[in-house]
Amino acid sequence: MAQKKAQSTQKKTAEAKGASTSAKKPAESVKAAPVKSEPVTKTEPAAKAEPAKKAEPAPKAEPAKKTEPAAKAEPAKKAEPAPKAEPAPKAEPAKKTEPAAKAEPAEKAEPSAEAEPVKKTRTTTRKTAAKKPAAKKTKSAAKKAAEETKPAAPAEEAAPVAEQPAAPVAETAPAAEPVVEAAPAQPQYDTPRRSVVFIGSECHPFVKTGGLGDVMYALPRELVKQNCDVRVILPRYACIPQKYQDKMVYRGEFYMDLGETGRSYYVGIMEYIWDGVVYDFIDNQEFFSAGNPYVGLVEDIPKYCFFSKAALAALNYMNWIPDIIHCHDWQAALVPVFQKTLFHDSPVGRAKSVLTIHNLRFQGIYNIPTIRYWTGLPAEVFNMGALQQAWRDANMLKGGLAYADRITTVSNTYAWEIQTPEYGEKLEDHLRYHSYKLRGIVNGIDYGMWNPATDPALAVNYDITNVLERKPQNKLALQKELGLVEDEGKLVVGLISRLTNQKGLDLVNAIVPQIMDGNTQVVVLGTGDKEYEDTFRYYENAYKGMFSACIQYDESRAHRIYAGADVLLVPSRFEPCGLTQLNAMHYGTLPIVRETGGLKDTVEPYNVFNGGGNGFTFDRYDAGLLLDAVNRAKTEYFTSRYHWDEVVQRDMAKDVSWTNSARQYKDLYLELTPW
Ligand code: ADP
Repeated sequence: MAQKKAQSTQKKTAEAKGASTSAKKPAESVKAAPVKSEPVTKTEPAAKAEPAKKAEPAPKAEPAKKTEPAAKAEPAKKAEPAPKAEPAPKAEPAKKTEPAAKAEPAEKAEPSAEAEPVKKTRTTTRKTAAKKPAAKKTKSAAKKAAEETKPAAPAEEAAPVAEQPAAPVAETAPAAEPVVEAAPAQPQYDTPRRSVVFIGSECHPFVKTGGLGDVMYALPRELVKQNCDVRVILPRYACIPQKYQDKMVYRGEFYMDLGETGRSYYVGIMEYIWDGVVYDFIDNQEFFSAGNPYVGLVEDIPKYCFFSKAALAALNYMNWIPDIIHCHDWQAALVPVFQKTLFHDSPVGRAKSVLTIHNLRFQGIYNIPTIRYWTGLPAEVFNMGALQQAWRDANMLKGGLAYADRITTVSNTYAWEIQTPEYGEKLEDHLRYHSYKLRGIVNGIDYGMWNPATDPALAVNYDITNVLERKPQNKLALQKELGLVEDEGKLVVGLISRLTNQKGLDLVNAIVPQIMDGNTQVVVLGTGDKEYEDTFRYYENAYKGMFSACIQYDESRAHRIYAGADVLLVPSRFEPCGLTQLNAMHYGTLPIVRETGGLKDTVEPYNVFNGGGNGFTFDRYDAGLLLDAVNRAKTEYFTSRYHWDEVVQRDMAKDVSWTNSARQYKDLYLELTPW
């Protein structure tokens, strides 16, 4: 992940003594300049005296005054009554962007239809056979949903708007702009309606570099089913594939000042409505024209300062004030800070905020003058209780954690781990201080996108009733595709991952020679650090026909590996949640994981005595323990296939959907808005 790598180079400017500040929390006391129409900020000069200019940073070379409107073209009047979930009307051709590198399959992800795994394949006794298990119990998700559907209940309306007198917003607001959401047939809901905006830096299928993109795609869709009105705000990167750019409809535009730049920046809003979720893309070519979402901190810091502020300004502009603002990772972490300072007195200031940590390692750290220059945030937020870190640095994530009303992270274990020095990435004290508002909610996977019964990428589709016959066919097809020896009797070990230090790859590299026994094949799919890429290439050469190193990002190949492999390695050093082990289980592939973060919460260790569990696990970060786990898997696979097959089916039946997790988010929203 380019971004992630880039950030690891984060500047460290600590030094000096002298001190600043209130180690207290920042909070409400921080008032700030009311927002003008669209947030014209102008914050007070700030005690410090950062001569804006020199503090400067601006990697770019600000050109003229106005960034051209790039996208629009069509007059605003479109209130598009977008009939059925999606194919938005015509859309602005806007600028031609080159099709993204990643981000892809997209629409293939057709909804339901999954052979919704049987709840209880397992029968406790290891006798119950494998071949034609619970087929009867298998019930389509659609059917299930239908059954559960009770008579329609009148959904309460959400999001009050404008009780605040003359909020200084949106004079430009688009006239009569009822965004008609193509909500699917409304089932009925047992909790009150709430409106939520998701703000984050990536979202499948528009742009994705890792798990965050999956969550930004799947959770909003699930929340729609749970009686939420959901809008997702993203940057309109040039790398979003043209087919999606073409579907976007011009929603409006305004100009916004930004920090101490002394300039007015164009903010365009392009909209796409899809399956009941409204996607609003913040358009500004100056910030979002790179071929990749993440470039390096020097560019990314200004970009996401702009984005966070523009997202709030856009909500005011559209006069769509949600109950909840749900932000994700450091790129959107300034949203709660802006919201409680510069936007405090504007309509959007009254929403509640939630900040989700998908990976604590990446925090958005740069020196204070630069971040003050790009944000215009008042001096008081640059204290040790909020953004300030060490002596001269500002940490965007740290500030967000201080100002958000609630913090979540993506598993219970990780929520606990990050409060310890080992996993806290130097924020453990800060997180412990705010632990009263921190909780873990484990991720799920989208059953529309990840469904072996309908997955168009697979050689042969299968479900829990025929996995034992058909999965080997996928294995053969995968071996053929990758030029491996074609033999369904071999154990195929998969690894699908960013190739970075987080993912436990040094452990993998250390044991490869010991697991290559002639009956085992290894398939690696990933990109990242050169040292790992090169080592895997070396192994491919050393074990011809038995080891495949696919140094690439390829979404559909990933699907085929989940389907064709027997086990998937996830030996991470730390893992906030991890999605690959969930995908693997859902495809009947047994995970081999280290017991950390979400891996610990989602994979129950295989119990050789009673046959229970989902996969093979080890605890300490140690190559010998990983090797032991792989050997246990081999033993079970080669000598006890009957029991192995039981686990395959149990994993496919395990509920790793978003339903339960989305409900927990909904509960959290309701806690914050108890009216
Ligand atoms: P992280 O967010 O830390 O990268 P996760 O396990 O949360 O890890 O999510 C990884 C997601 O990215 C999964 O959906 C996985 O299938 C996908 N993925 C990772 N690497 C690749 C790759 N090289 N090609 C295709 N998909 C990949």
